[in-house]
Amino acid sequence: MIVEEEEQETLGHHALLELYSCTPSQLNDSGFLERLLLNVASQLKCTVLGQRFHTFEPVGVSGIVLLAESHLSIHTWPEHGYAAVDLFTCGDPQHLSSMPALFQNKLQSSHHDFQIIKRGQPNKASDVGFERVRDRRLADSIELDKPGLNRKKTWLSDGWSENILWSARIKKVIAEEHTCYQDVLILDTHQLGRVLVLDGNIQCSEADEKSYHEMMVHTLMCRAGASNTPKKVLVIGGGDGGCARELLRYPYVTKVDMVDIDRELVELCEKHLPKIFRRPDNQSSLRDDKRFNLIIDDGAEYLKTCEDYYDAIFVDATDPIGPGASLYSHEFYRSTKSRLNPNGALAVQGGSTWYFRDTFRQVYQNLQALFPVVHPLECFSAVYPGGVWSIQIATMGDDPRDVNDKLSRLHDDLDWYSSERHQAAFILPPHAQELLY
Ligand code: SAM
Repeated sequence: MIVEEEEQETLGHHALLELYSCTPSQLNDSGFLERLLLNVASQLKCTVLGQRFHTFEPVGVSGIVLLAESHLSIHTWPEHGYAAVDLFTCGDPQHLSSMPALFQNKLQSSHHDFQIIKRGQPNKASDVGFERVRDRRLADSIELDKPGLNRKKTWLSDGWSENILWSARIKKVIAEEHTCYQDVLILDTHQLGRVLVLDGNIQCSEADEKSYHEMMVHTLMCRAGASNTPKKVLVIGGGDGGCARELLRYPYVTKVDMVDIDRELVELCEKHLPKIFRRPDNQSSLRDDKRFNLIIDDGAEYLKTCEDYYDAIFVDATDPIGPGASLYSHEFYRSTKSRLNPNGALAVQGGSTWYFRDTFRQVYQNLQALFPVVHPLECFSAVYPGGVWSIQIATMGDDPRDVNDKLSRLHDDLDWYSSERHQAAFILPPHAQELLY
């Protein structure tokens, strides 16, 4: 085997294999050769995109397997017992040395020649046309067409639509579990801190979660209509703990019931997301606050049998697919209303006014059919599709856009919520306003 001695950066590796004295009948069997190449591609950890094999008259086969990393091909001369194989890959070359053995055994070749040639020096290649991802090797490792963790677990991608894929570079996989309800990933990333991913959808990141949780909780809690300061509150979903943390800031809140369907998920968040699943005043777990009460149940089922009344209810649910689907129905919103005190209010996650316009409209219409007053607000998110997310607030009559200055000033030290932001967040652009009619 010839390997270039000088260690230099390279864009790809070309492995050339000459196999002599092979069994002629196998060299003429295109089905056999196709299975062989596909198996070798998989053993070498390559990603197969397609294949084409052709048998010549009177003998000989030419075949190619297209790889995400480039290609693996074979050309055979059964009359000479000879096959020429080549693999070009821009991926990890560490498995290439096993290539001769994978072919030799199957084709019973008596001897072979093998060489690996380095192809392409980045310092000679131009980077024109690759403005946003300048390092081509980074671009390769993103696997731009697939949501989820890439093969090397260095990038996470989230599909924002059929045509838009958002990606973040990962430092470390902290937890990868399949609970009874959902696939859970907790990852440490380079720019967003730890992130929580459920069924492939990013739920929150340490870096930006406060925007969503502060705006969801404090706009409802500091609205002028919440004059009888809310004491008993309910969070449905919210397993990451961000909503409950914000609610525990209020000294007059006596009880925070949090109903999440997935015990394992909540335990994973408590263990691996301590910056979110914590009491507001220190790093200890939410569970150390006696006012916090975790209930493991489906939110919709819980409300059917619940006998308590709440001053405020927050629905911090996953998207309307999977376990979260039951938390978007007309029936469910009716149940929430039935458990609210006379001046109570409800806040629900309302989707995107750009990417999920139907969800936004449907949530609004369901709430409007039941509650005298409904107003959506928009908040920043670094990880939700489009970077802007909506929360919809429904009340028994008061206007949630009116802020109680005295209450909101108690929260001068927050990162995202303020008295001014309270009012500004309800000002929707016309393209979102039109969804309300
Ligand atoms: N802020 C996030 C968002 O808007 O995408 C939601 C975050 S939170 C992690 C979502 C929570 O809803 C999860 O903890 C999940 O277990 C919980 N959940 C999903 N379906 C549920 C249901 N039917 N009843 C109660 N909790 C549910």
